[in-house]
Amino acid sequence: MKKILLFFGIILLVSCSKDRIEEIKNEGGGSSDEYQLCLTETDSASVAPSLTGRVSYKENRWENGQTIRIKFLNGNKFLQNKVKQFANEWTEYANLKFEWVETDEDADIKIGFKWKNNRGSWSTIGNNCQNVAQDNASMNFGWFDANTSDTEFSRTTIHEFGHALGLAHEHMSPFIKIEWNKPVVYAHYAKQGWNEKKVDFNVFSQLDPSKADYSLFDNQSIMLYFFSPDFTLNKLKFPKNTILSTMDKEGIAAMYPKPTISTLREKGILKAGESLTSENKRFSLEMRLDGNLVISDLRYNFKKVIWDTGTFGKSGASAYMLANGNLIVYKLGKYLWESKTSNQPGAVAVMQNNGNLDIILDGKTVWSSNSAQN
Ligand SMILES: [Zn+2]
Repeated sequence: MKKILLFFGIILLVSCSKDRIEEIKNEGGGSSDEYQLCLTETDSASVAPSLTGRVSYKENRWENGQTIRIKFLNGNKFLQNKVKQFANEWTEYANLKFEWVETDEDADIKIGFKWKNNRGSWSTIGNNCQNVAQDNASMNFGWFDANTSDTEFSRTTIHEFGHALGLAHEHMSPFIKIEWNKPVVYAHYAKQGWNEKKVDFNVFSQLDPSKADYSLFDNQSIMLYFFSPDFTLNKLKFPKNTILSTMDKEGIAAMYPKPTISTLREKGILKAGESLTSENKRFSLEMRLDGNLVISDLRYNFKKVIWDTGTFGKSGASAYMLANGNLIVYKLGKYLWESKTSNQPGAVAVMQNNGNLDIILDGKTVWSSNSAQN
């Protein structure tokens, strides 16, 4: 099955279809409306996959830093604004820009709502979207309406935009070994008209590790879709993920990395949620949402804190490099912490490759966090 993925690429379309209500009722627990599947169409062949961070198709990546033009082919303002709102979750972490243009303008991603009466939700993968004609949908939302909840807008919009940025389904990760109860799965999808070959590809196949970069399987990923535990021999539980997971954020940031900034210059500011990163990308200085200014060693799976200003509990605080050389953490004009280097005008703060935050003037270190690591 893996070889199917390696044939010369045409266009891979990924579709998510709403499952049948009558089956959901037997599924037990949760709202039946949440049980919606997203499945890969293979009618028009495939692309060579390569994975980084998440399960992604390397061949179909956008250029890092690219501005992707997006338009709506139809739909009212309410639906369009919801899609914009949740799609933008990705650009918080990816070094990409979304430019929303008018229907009569050329765009890379073309969005339809129930396009040509299609009740599935799906997207063309990555920059293959550019190959779709301007008057046709590269992405469709098949069940959004005025009664759709924000949870559902979030779940489906973020998921489809994940495909549009080049991501595959998480269950195709070479890292997970799912023991499928194949007769049950075949029987289930036969009810929606799928033959075994289609199920083999969409559900059972995994991406070829030799063609892939990939990280650990992430069962919190927005790109994982929900399967009934009955689909697996060991009754594996699949969560119903509706938002970006931590690994989704890190994965897309690895695929489309933002420029590394290691230096806070005169009058430079780090707002809550912003950070500096050492040039070797091992250490970060992060102005956390809770007001604490923190140096972390990123070498570990978790961020290991090696230094902080102890100013937590002050949400909304910022760090500021004053013109006089003093680095401060402040909120509402009040200093919460300072480096006490106010007699060093023009000094800069640098997140160093060894884990030190140094304040430097004319090549000389005038203050250091002394948090260097081996
Ligand atoms: Zn999908």
